[in-house]
Amino acid sequence: MKPRCPACDGTGTLHEPVVPVTQYASPELIERIVYAGHDPGDDPAWAVSGATSRAEYGAWCGHACGMACLRMVLAHRDGDAPPLLELLHGTREAGGYVERPDGTVKGLIYAPFVEYVRDTHRLDSRVRTDLDTEALRSELDRGRMVIASVHKEIRRPERAAPGKGGHLVLVIGHRDGLLHFRNPSGHRPDTVSATVAEATFATFFAGRGVVVDPTRHL
Ligand SMILES: [Zn+2]
Repeated sequence: MKPRCPACDGTGTLHEPVVPVTQYASPELIERIVYAGHDPGDDPAWAVSGATSRAEYGAWCGHACGMACLRMVLAHRDGDAPPLLELLHGTREAGGYVERPDGTVKGLIYAPFVEYVRDTHRLDSRVRTDLDTEALRSELDRGRMVIASVHKEIRRPERAAPGKGGHLVLVIGHRDGLLHFRNPSGHRPDTVSATVAEATFATFFAGRGVVVDPTRHL
């Protein structure tokens, strides 16, 4: 059975509430950013991210899906959490993002990220690269959440998945055959706080991610 989560008023296999966090500072801009070529750096709310400059925010917000997931987990467990870019700075220092000579970014790299969240945030976490939806559900049944690698087009699950993986969402539980998750780049409120059938999720899911346990501190 699921261990009782001290942060939850819910019972069973779904953490709630989990307040949504998007990787872009202004959620209402996301549809234009992801489908209409809007420059994500052109966001009047950029400073709430904790970035040191608009340029830094613009360069990194597109890579911050995993940081938004972590921020949601910490806020659920602790009631508050550091700003997005503070988490990103820590992850970068730990080696979770690597800037290539050509300026592109490799990351999120799971192993150093896990070390960072364990050491700095006392959050029990571990990498899994062998998850099918049954194993995913089994982790959720143990009270864990899963930062899961899915195709970014999971925000439009009514369409066929163009591929698997490349973007991170936070799976917070399941109920009645539906997986409940938070998508840091959802383009509408109902795709930020989303539910999809397990079989549909599977078509977007790369089978890997980071399992975290918000029910306790290390
Ligand atoms: Zn909980």
